[in-house]
Amino acid sequence: AKACGKNVYKLFDKKMNEHANERVTLLSDLRLALEREEFVLHYQPKVDLLTGNVTSVEALVRWMHPRLGMLAPDKFIRLSEESGLIADLTDWVLRTACTQAKKWQEQNLGSVRVAVNLSPYHFQRQDVKEAIFSVLDATGLEPALLEIEITESALMQNDEYTCELLRELRGLGMTISVDDFGTGYSSLSYLHRFPINTLKIDRTFILNMMKSSEDQAIVTAIIAMAKSLNMQIVAEGVETVDQLEKLKDQGCHEIQGFLVSRPVTAETVEQFFTPENHL
Ligand code: C2E
Ligand code: CA
Ligand code: CA
Ligand code: CA
Repeated sequence: AKACGKNVYKLFDKKMNEHANERVTLLSDLRLALEREEFVLHYQPKVDLLTGNVTSVEALVRWMHPRLGMLAPDKFIRLSEESGLIADLTDWVLRTACTQAKKWQEQNLGSVRVAVNLSPYHFQRQDVKEAIFSVLDATGLEPALLEIEITESALMQNDEYTCELLRELRGLGMTISVDDFGTGYSSLSYLHRFPINTLKIDRTFILNMMKSSEDQAIVTAIIAMAKSLNMQIVAEGVETVDQLEKLKDQGCHEIQGFLVSRPVTAETVEQFFTPENHL
C-alpha cells in the first residue's frame, strides 16, 4: 500500500510539473505572439429589437497559435492578466478594433460602434486611459464609435478612480457597458453612481430563463431596473426564438447571441450592417 501511495504521489507530481511546464511554454509563446501579432479579432453583432439594426459589434480576440491552432480567450486571457501581458494585448485589440471601425465608417457601411472588452486587472491603471486616447488619436476614430465593456468587478475595485475615468470616457462620447451583469453582486445604489449606458444581462440568466421562474424573475427585474435608471439593456447569449420572443415581451432593447450570429470575421459581420444604420 505504501508503494502504491508513493506511485500516486509521483504521478501527481508529474502532472503538476507538466501543468507548470505547459504554463511556462504558453507564457513564452504569448510573449512571442504579441511581437508577431498572431491574434485575430472576431466580431459579434448586437441587434436593436425595434429596428432590427446592428448597433454595435463586440470584438472578441482569438490567438492563431502556430502549433495549437486557434485558441479561444479562455485559454490565454487569464495567463495574460497574471503575467501583465494583458496591457500589450489590450493595446493590440484596441488598435485593431478601432482601425476596423474607422474603415467601416469610411466605406459608408453605417456608423456601427465597436465594443472592446477591458480586463478588470488593468482597468485601474493609468495606461488604460493612455492606450484608449492614443489609439483614438492614431486611428482618427470618433469616440462615439467606441464602446467599452467592463465587468461589475472592475467597477467595484476602486470606485473613486473608476468613476472619474468612466466620466471622462463618457464625456468624450464613448459608450460604457457593464458586461456579465447579474453575476457580480453589485447593488442598485452602487450602480447608479457610475456613468453607465448599457447593462448586458449575463448569458446564464438567458440560458435558464425558459426553464427557471427565478431566472425569469431576475431578467424581468434587471430590465425594469435598467429602464428606471435610463440604461440600455442587451441580452447576451440569445440562442433561440423562444428566448427572443420572451425578451421582446419584457421590453429588452437589444440582443446578442448565436441566434443572430456567432462571432465572425470583420468581412463576414459586414453583411449584417444596414447603410441607413446611423447613430
Ligand atoms: P464575454 O465578454 O462575456 O463575451 C461573450 C462570450 O460568449 C464570447 O466567448 C462569445 O463567443 C460567447 N457567446 C456569444 N453568444 C453566445 C451564445 O449565444 N451562446 C453561447 N454559448 N456563447 C455565446 P469568447 O469569444 O470565447 O470570449 C470569452 C470571454 O473572453 C469574453 O466573455 C471576455 O470576457 C473575454 N475576452 C474576449 N476577448 C477579449 C479581449 O479582447 N480582451 C479581454 N480583456 N477579454 C476578452
Ligand atoms: Ca463582453
Ligand atoms: Ca458577457
Ligand atoms: Ca462572460
